[in-house]
Amino acid sequence: MTSEPAIAGDRNTVGGWPILEPGQSWPGCACGERMVLFFQIDVPDDIAGFGGEHLLVFQCPVHNEACFGRAQLPERYWETPPPYGNEMVHWRILRHRGGIVAESADEFLQPPRLVLRDAGPDDKWAFRVGGKPTWIQDAMYHTCACGVDLEFLVQIPENFGFPKRPEVPEQDGAFSTDEYGLLLGNEIYLFACPNRCDPAAAWPVNQN
Ligand SMILES: [Zn+2]
Ligand SMILES: [Zn+2]
Repeated sequence: MTSEPAIAGDRNTVGGWPILEPGQSWPGCACGERMVLFFQIDVPDDIAGFGGEHLLVFQCPVHNEACFGRAQLPERYWETPPPYGNEMVHWRILRHRGGIVAESADEFLQPPRLVLRDAGPDDKWAFRVGGKPTWIQDAMYHTCACGVDLEFLVQIPENFGFPKRPEVPEQDGAFSTDEYGLLLGNEIYLFACPNRCDPAAAWPVNQN
């Protein structure tokens, strides 16, 4: 995360202006709130299976819960809460190859630019794209509703903070007064469908 503020059209950002696919709208939570854009990145070309995709990760500004799933994920698991303790789906992970810049910026997070660099051997617990997951607990794998196994894409460390704008409220359940966290600050392993059966076919494994 840099100290440079993002501008409209930047593709690697926390907050800022989401790059969407034609016809895709800014995701909303079941509660009616427009979701916060936590981050977006262009997945580097050398990431097997996903290189060249644009990845966006959103979560409701109000709902901040962990996410639970069993190995076989149900139909449309990104919008219908799997029945294992999830009250609603308050997050959305999108992938696409389009390039429409949203008309407005995220209102909750400061928008620093992100820079991706090659990970070294000491980066196994860093915020990482590609490679292999570094599990805290036993490895957890999921099968997409379309029948293929989801593949690892991004790991986000426990209690990783995204800087909030000073004028917005503190996040419910947050570990920080000036940052927002994803999925209650769990270690997050984003897995995505290599079949691309839907732009939202991705699942965040939570561990702590
Ligand atoms: Zn919500
Ligand atoms: Zn799928």
